[in-house]
Amino acid sequence: MESINIVVIGGGVVGLAVASELAKKHEGVFLFEKNEKFGQEISSHNSGVIHSGIHYPPNSIKAKLCIKANPMLYDLCEKNGVPYKRLGKLTVATDEEEIKELEHLMRQGQQNGVPDLKMLDGEQVKKLEPNVDVEQALLSPSTGILEPDELMSYFYAKAQKNNVVFAFKTEVTSLDKMKDGYILAGTSVSEKFTAQAKTVINCAGLYSDKVAEMAGLDVDKTGYRLHLCKGDYFRLRGAPPVKMLVYPLPKGGGLGIHLTPDMAGSIRLGPNSYYVDKIDYEVASNEQEFREDVSRFLPLIREREIAIDSAGIRPKLQGPNEGFRDFVIRHEKDKGLPNLINLIGIESPGLTAAPVIAERVTEIYENEIS
Ligand SMILES: Cc1cc2nc3c(=O)[nH]c(=O)nc-3n(C[C@H](O)[C@H](O)[C@H](O)COP(=O)(O)OP(=O)(O)OC[C@H]3O[C@@H](n4cnc5c(N)ncnc54)[C@H](O)[C@@H]3O)c2cc1C
Repeated sequence: MESINIVVIGGGVVGLAVASELAKKHEGVFLFEKNEKFGQEISSHNSGVIHSGIHYPPNSIKAKLCIKANPMLYDLCEKNGVPYKRLGKLTVATDEEEIKELEHLMRQGQQNGVPDLKMLDGEQVKKLEPNVDVEQALLSPSTGILEPDELMSYFYAKAQKNNVVFAFKTEVTSLDKMKDGYILAGTSVSEKFTAQAKTVINCAGLYSDKVAEMAGLDVDKTGYRLHLCKGDYFRLRGAPPVKMLVYPLPKGGGLGIHLTPDMAGSIRLGPNSYYVDKIDYEVASNEQEFREDVSRFLPLIREREIAIDSAGIRPKLQGPNEGFRDFVIRHEKDKGLPNLINLIGIESPGLTAAPVIAERVTEIYENEIS
């Protein structure tokens, strides 16, 4: 049986960032990933937006991590050749009711410490984006985009340099506490395996509640049960009608169907937001819903061709019609599981926050475990 210091379960952007950061100072870091490559799940099915931090309640973990991560991520990209674009974002209001919501969003962003927020009237918006027709918009200059695969490749290379041992096609199916750590078992390249680890870090994304359950936690009592919330994307054909990111006000557990340029300049519409029972990446939404939502602020969408693009699934802690839930990033010592750190409900802004989540996990490990 392999004896390991730290096992990170999950090779998405979060697991890669966590493993690479921990391995800077600590030896014997392993990463177990059930797929044959890193980043095949949530981390490659998202919008690739570097969020500014306006959307999260003040003092939430999401707000704090996002605000810290935003400049850090730009710096990381700049220094390490990860392509990015600081495009800026407009969140738009089309009537009086929405203007009130937009003002609330601006106050929340300012309270969170988002820099350079500015309220623009319809004329000012037209100067920036002539095709966008709205009453007002909140400009957030620090929002940008990157290519998630490039960011993950950076963390993967950094982790390899820091001697992280990667085990792909390795699925953990049981996790048993013992006197000094955990016994992990499952299948690795179709063979059964068992390994012993002093510390386990659960970065299993859509399956992180299952991993917590394997360790013996009751996911209903702890509030860790995940709800799968899907988002579909369409892609706009032809010349891009906007340069910036353009968002409506948030609705229904998502940020509203928005326009996001990708690194090649092509525009994606979405994601929308609906709860599902199983994980699949088929686009089930109707083109008309997207066209109607977006036509409220981009009328020319009515004449443009849009095509099915892709889908992503959010690991939400809140079920349908439930209120805000924050990221869970915690050492489970007080639940009788010392040396287990759970990361659960890492939905947006998890891509943006990944480098800061990695720092936070490392701090927990160094202060409470090692
Ligand atoms: C539609 C959508 C849009 C989004 N847009 C943005 C955005 O624009 N900006 C932003 O900041 N964030 C965004 N996010 C959030 C962001 O994508 C996630 O927070 C982030 O990718 C989560 O990464 P992760 O590593 O936790 O999960 P994942 O990438 O899913 O990685 C988890 C890994 O764990 C592995 N795993 C699971 N169980 C086991 C097991 N038992 N054994 C071994 N391996 C296992 C899986 O195979 C997987 O590779 C979006 C999310 C969605 C769904």
